[in-house]
Amino acid sequence: MPADERIKVAFRHVFVRDDSDFFGDGEFKLIAHVGNQPVGDPEQIFRAVEGRSFALPEAIWSTIVDVRNLTQLVVRFQAKEDDVFVDDDLGTVQHTLRFPFQQDRFAFRHGTAFYLLDWEVQLSAGGGFGRHAPNTVFATRQNAGSVTCTTVSGNTFRARMEVHPVRPVPSTPPASAVPVRPVFPPGTPEETNTGGTTVSANSPINVIPNPSVIPILGVAANAPPGPHTDAQLDAANWANARNCARIEFTSYKPQSLNFTDDDPRLEWSFVAVTGGAVAFLGPARGRRILVFGVTAGEVRLECRFQGAVFATYRAIVAQIKQIPCRCNILNGPTNDSIPRATPDDVKGHVDIANRFMRQLGLELTLDTNPARTDGATATTHPGIFRIRVPRGRTRRIDGAARDRAVIMNHRPNVMNFCYVHSDADGNLGAANDFPNSTAPAAAGARPTITDNGTPSTSWVRPSGVGIGADAATGPVNMQLIAGIQRAGHPQLFSMYVTDGNGGTLLPAGNHATPARQREYANTMSHEFGHILNLGHRVEGVPAAGANPARDMTAADAPATLSAGGIFWDGLLQPPHENVMQWHDPATVAQDFDIIQAKGVMLSPLVVAAPAVVPAAPPGPAPPRTGPGQSVDYEVVAGDYLSKIAQRHGMTWQELWNYDGGTGVPNKQRLRSGDPDLIYVGEIIRVPATIA
Ligand SMILES: [Zn+2]
Repeated sequence: MPADERIKVAFRHVFVRDDSDFFGDGEFKLIAHVGNQPVGDPEQIFRAVEGRSFALPEAIWSTIVDVRNLTQLVVRFQAKEDDVFVDDDLGTVQHTLRFPFQQDRFAFRHGTAFYLLDWEVQLSAGGGFGRHAPNTVFATRQNAGSVTCTTVSGNTFRARMEVHPVRPVPSTPPASAVPVRPVFPPGTPEETNTGGTTVSANSPINVIPNPSVIPILGVAANAPPGPHTDAQLDAANWANARNCARIEFTSYKPQSLNFTDDDPRLEWSFVAVTGGAVAFLGPARGRRILVFGVTAGEVRLECRFQGAVFATYRAIVAQIKQIPCRCNILNGPTNDSIPRATPDDVKGHVDIANRFMRQLGLELTLDTNPARTDGATATTHPGIFRIRVPRGRTRRIDGAARDRAVIMNHRPNVMNFCYVHSDADGNLGAANDFPNSTAPAAAGARPTITDNGTPSTSWVRPSGVGIGADAATGPVNMQLIAGIQRAGHPQLFSMYVTDGNGGTLLPAGNHATPARQREYANTMSHEFGHILNLGHRVEGVPAAGANPARDMTAADAPATLSAGGIFWDGLLQPPHENVMQWHDPATVAQDFDIIQAKGVMLSPLVVAAPAVVPAAPPGPAPPRTGPGQSVDYEVVAGDYLSKIAQRHGMTWQELWNYDGGTGVPNKQRLRSGDPDLIYVGEIIRVPATIA
């Protein structure tokens, strides 16, 4: 993994003042240490000619030192005259490097009566060791997690960016849940991007940024030449700007950095946490990026500002799972017992819900099986039906009427959404039938999902949402809720939605406004979350000083829903922004976090669901990066990865992961396993120059 808080100490030349030999040229041996680490080859013999210097190959006579938490570093260098009997000691030079490590102090000449040593220190900024522009950031920090970095000129520089997994970002979280944030000078302006997302049925599927799941998608570049329409790309699940995960900053300080969306100062890369791999669509830079999955697992994205890690973001990489569903609109005999949502509306609700579900890597797909029962009639939308029901089956339903309604026209292992006029309690909707999770559980206990990654799955202190060096978050445990099943229907997944969402039960409502449609979809997503065994995310017992406008009170928190209840997921943060908060509007309750994504993957409905496999290219087109279009390149003195990458119009990260169609990425070819350390003579794969 590239680190930035490292310096390179390189011994460059030795000038021979006195070869210490009576006859002919001398033969020097050199012994060097940086810290406690031996550097170079003490057996290497250099011909020493008085009045001339000899060069020390950098690949051997240099070393890279992680200076995080180092306040000083001792460099020692000794020369000896190689002699038959006893080597003559030509003296030792010693120098102590001290924090702050900065560029201008780092070209040295030290020596003894016998020799002069030229050596230097290089700083890593912008992806490579070397000399950099004076205000370039070098990531040396005063302590881990500090926002204060030293620039190569020795000035200090404070900055922090957050890429928060919860959107919208909680505006007034309890103090106990706020991540540890470093202190900036008072009045330092902050640029924020924290609001909720306006979701509609026409929004791109990736409209909600910073999802918990990065979907695995195909690479359209592997398709035959020629333009592809958006619809073709979408249908084939090839990565495009509308289906990749959108990762966005949520805030940065100071605002005067004026980062742009594709700012070259901000460079992104990823680290596999548990085997995951992703690729970037378009340039991996700026405050907004597009990323898609290549290999399932878990990854941490890192955003660097001129080399310094400024923000990290963790996500699951998975194939999208398609959940088949059918929707039944239950029409009663009178005008005031017919749900207002039309089949077109219902289709829209499913589409909007899929914008929320995308964060979990799920997609509701309307059932194409035409089988109909219970007098259901088809509509223009496959999977959406109308059913005429007698009085009492769709209006003010409760108890047995609920059970009778939601099971109509169902198919086993297909999610059954039932649209009714209303229920007896004025609910917007309710999950009715769903089995237990497949997650293991102790006898009599609910299954517990554990997540233990940094940054946190959610807004759990410390969050690690800022600089990567923020402290690890520790384990987070979430309880799943137990299934609710009736006899004889082990594969029934059902819920209902009411006109409460459309405003029938509210004054001056109009079910077809965008806000009402979002409300339906939000209800659908929330109840569907229960069907996948997710519990409520609530704020617990209201504390002293609770805000009655936002925080749950004892009166509106029945014991089953609130902290301690059987429908509570065991977590307290952040409640309001989560889809599983049970009383916030669709403009706020939009988020699903990583631990919830891990939980729903164990629902029997999701386990059984087919995964989206990106379509193969429609023709036998050669991949754009075939073996014939990449060539071997031999590393020469003075090369470093970002320099080579630049010559090919790539970032160093791209070159590091580049395999040129051979299946073996450069990171596996280079023997150090460290992008900052490549050796002269090593062979890497680079794109062939296009003639
Ligand atoms: Zn609920």
